[in-house]
Amino acid sequence: MRVLLKLSGELLAGRKPPIDWEAFSFYAQEIAAAAREAEIAVVVGGGNILRGARTPVPATGHVMGMLATLINALALRDALRDQGVEALLFSALPVPGVADAVDQWGAKEALSRGAVVLLAGGTGLPYVTTDTAAVLRALALGAELVLKGSKVDGVYTADPEEDPRAERIPRLTHSDYLARGLKVLDPAAVQIAAEHRLPIVVFRADRKGAFLAAIRGETGSRIG
Ligand code: UDP
Repeated sequence: MRVLLKLSGELLAGRKPPIDWEAFSFYAQEIAAAAREAEIAVVVGGGNILRGARTPVPATGHVMGMLATLINALALRDALRDQGVEALLFSALPVPGVADAVDQWGAKEALSRGAVVLLAGGTGLPYVTTDTAAVLRALALGAELVLKGSKVDGVYTADPEEDPRAERIPRLTHSDYLARGLKVLDPAAVQIAAEHRLPIVVFRADRKGAFLAAIRGETGSRIG
């Protein structure tokens, strides 16, 4: 089974934002455990460092945000290597000598032989998010499932941090998600996933064993 894991910057910020080395090490261990059961490609977020929409010139800020994902991906690659996992890094914004351009064929080949593939730089285009990049990369790499790691344990009827009456929805269709105007995942990403019938599992990622449980369908909420 091939899965695309979206790891947000919020998770990587851990308890010591913007970059918590212990959090990187924790997620590297989680990925290493999951990689024994499935082929794993990871789209890395950058929100712990910067979000483009909140900058004075968003068109520039989005590029800065994409570069932030590369900073995270470099650290995650080291953390994975510390776990003895072969990890290859590709970037939608290549940096000579640091990160090669995304090569979907090279990435697929690496996944087939059991290496973890890290995808930085989002889509390479401003005004979208790494959620959208995760869905697009999943389609290009032939992943069966997108796993969206979150701080909440699934999709809720409202933001559980703001509304105490919010209830978890264990399973819903892509159109339900879009019709309810939910926000745990970028709607643009869900729209593309809907068109290609690509399922997405939203799960709480900051607990040991969560990735494996999400891959096995034992935790989180499933869209599609
Ligand atoms: N970004 C972008 N294009 C992309 C992916 C990301 O412009 O394809 C920018 C955008 O400004 C975003 C920032 O990079 O706010 C960091 O990504 P994101 O917010 O998705 O990170 P996460 O919330 O997952 O940590």
